[in-house]
Amino acid sequence: MFARTWQGTMIAAARSPRIKAFMQDHRATSFLADRYVAGKHVSDGAARARGLMAEAGIRSSLFFMGEYVDSPELVEENVAQKLAAVAALTTSGLDLHVSVDPTQIGYHLDPDLVRPRAERIARAIADRPVGEQRLRCMMIDMEDESVTGPTIALHDALADAGLPVALTLQAYLRRTEADLAAQIRRGSKVRLVRGAFVGGNAIAFTKVSEIKANYRRLIDRMFSEAAFAAGFYPIVATHDTALHAHAIAAAESGGWPKGSYEFEMLLGVREEAARDLAARGERVRLYLPFGKDWWPYAVRRIGEYPGNAKLLVSSLFS
Ligand SMILES: Cc1cc2nc3c(=O)[nH]c(=O)nc-3n(C[C@H](O)[C@H](O)[C@H](O)COP(=O)(O)OP(=O)(O)OC[C@H]3O[C@@H](n4cnc5c(N)ncnc54)[C@H](O)[C@@H]3O)c2cc1C
Repeated sequence: MFARTWQGTMIAAARSPRIKAFMQDHRATSFLADRYVAGKHVSDGAARARGLMAEAGIRSSLFFMGEYVDSPELVEENVAQKLAAVAALTTSGLDLHVSVDPTQIGYHLDPDLVRPRAERIARAIADRPVGEQRLRCMMIDMEDESVTGPTIALHDALADAGLPVALTLQAYLRRTEADLAAQIRRGSKVRLVRGAFVGGNAIAFTKVSEIKANYRRLIDRMFSEAAFAAGFYPIVATHDTALHAHAIAAAESGGWPKGSYEFEMLLGVREEAARDLAARGERVRLYLPFGKDWWPYAVRRIGEYPGNAKLLVSSLFS
C-alpha cells in the first residue's frame, strides 16, 4: 500500500513544473541526476556508452529527457536531440539504439504529427551506413495507460513500413498478455517492463506479487516455441535478478542462443547485476538518459523503489 501511494505521489511530482524548477535548481538533489543520468549533453551520453562497451561489453540505448512537452518548439528540440543521439552513436561505433516517448514528440499537442516525427528518427537510424553487426533500433517507450493503444498502433505502422522499431509493454497492465500475443505473431522486438505507472484494479494488477507473477507468465510467452518460430526478439527489462534467472531458464529450455534476446537495465540501478550478466555472455543494454531536464525522469526512478524515500527526504533537509 505504501509502495503504491509513494509511486503515485512521485508521478504527480514528476508532472509539476513548480516542483521541477525547485528540484533542478536545488544543489542537494543533484545527486539524483548524478546517479540516474549520463550528463547534460549528447556527447556525455555517447561517452558513457563508449565507456560501458569498452569496460564491460555492455550496450546502450540513448534517451534524451524532454517530457511533458507543451509547445511545438520543445517537440522540435526533442526530435533534434534524438537525431543528434543517432549521429553520435554512428561515429562512436556503437549500436544505433535510441529510446523515444510518443508524448515527447508531440502526442498531446497533435497526435497526427507523431508518426512523421517518429518516422524521421527511425529513418535516420535505418539509413546510416554502419555494418550489420551494429543493431539498429528506435525503441518506443510506453507511457501511462491513456496512450497504450495509440503507441502500439504507432509501432505497428512503422514496423509495417520496414523501419527498425521495437515496442515496450508493461507487465502491470492486464491487456499486455493480449498485446504481447499480437506482437509475437508479428515477430516484433518487445521490451517487457514492470510499468512505472499505477492503474486501477479494472485495468491493472495492483499487488507487487500479481505483477511479478504476470511478468513471469509473459517471459514464458516471449520464449515460447511460437515466438522463436516467428522471429520474435525478447527484451527482458528488469532489475529483479529472480526474473533474470527465470528468463535465462526459459531461454535455455527453449534453445534460444545468447544474443537472440537481451536484458536491459537502467543506468544507476543495480549495475553490478548488469555487469554480472554481461560477464556470463548475455547481451545486456543500459538505458542512458541525457539532457538538462532531469527531474521528471529521476523522480519516477525514486518512485518505483520506496527504499529511495529516505534518500530523497534526507537530501532535502540536510
Ligand atoms: C531499460 C528499461 C526501460 C524502461 N522503460 C519503461 C517504459 O517505457 N515505461 C515504463 O512504464 N517503465 C519503464 N521502465 C521502468 C519499469 O517499468 C520499472 O518501473 C523499473 O524497471 C523497476 O521495476 P523492476 O522490474 O526493475 O523490479 P523491482 O522489483 O522494482 O526492482 C528489483 C530491485 O531493483 C532495485 N531497483 C529497482 N528500481 C530501482 C530504483 N529506481 N532505484 C534503486 N533501486 C532500484 C531494487 O533493489 C529492487 O529490489 C523501464 C525499465 C528499464 C530497465
